[in-house]
Amino acid sequence: MNQFANSGDKLAQQLKSLGISNQKVLDAISSVPRHLFVDQILAHKAYENTALPIGQGQTISQPYIVGKMTQMLVEHGVTTDVLEIGTGSGYQAAILGRVFDKVSSVERIRQLQFNAKRKLQQLDIYNVQMKHGDGWQGWHSKAPFQAIIVTAAPTSIPEQLKLQLADGGLMVLPVGGETQTLVTVVRQGDDFIEKHWESVKFVPLVSGDTL
Ligand code: SAH
Repeated sequence: MNQFANSGDKLAQQLKSLGISNQKVLDAISSVPRHLFVDQILAHKAYENTALPIGQGQTISQPYIVGKMTQMLVEHGVTTDVLEIGTGSGYQAAILGRVFDKVSSVERIRQLQFNAKRKLQQLDIYNVQMKHGDGWQGWHSKAPFQAIIVTAAPTSIPEQLKLQLADGGLMVLPVGGETQTLVTVVRQGDDFIEKHWESVKFVPLVSGDTL
């Protein structure tokens, strides 16, 4: 008997009680086996609503915030061409792959990027393209994006990412240092409309070299 049978369903139920209401997002949470994205010794904690270490000083985000950010994109009307910055374990990318038609994801640590790619292949998720690179630069050749989701916190909104948004497109990202706020940016022509939401806690979006 599979130790994790129904675990995804229970996690989705929990997120529903916390206000994640979109069925497509809840179905993705139910169906993606989060225990595959964490170290085996932490697998028993994989379906708790907490962030967990994934090595290299990085973390897999809390499921609630994964659901929340994904739902914000759905509610904005996004259907395809989503860019994620900070692939990490690949869990958020897998969720995005189940919800949207075409997803791209950038990670600065080669080992994490490599492992994440393998995990998505294992799950037969083929609509997510990944690359090793610096997320501050986005993914120029694939722009423009209907949405950009940043899963590490920059101290200010990266200019290149704003420019890679399609007209009407939405970016969701944590901004700050010690204290961070979830921010949305909607592009309207040459205007970028910012809104500030709840406080959040992400690892920093590192500047400079890739590893
Ligand atoms: N979305 C991930 C969360 C990973 S934590 C998941 O579902 O597991 C944030 C990730 O952002 C880390 O893997 C970190 O290495 C990466 N990161 C930090 N700075 C970056 C940068 N400048 N460019 C690309 N990735 C970056």
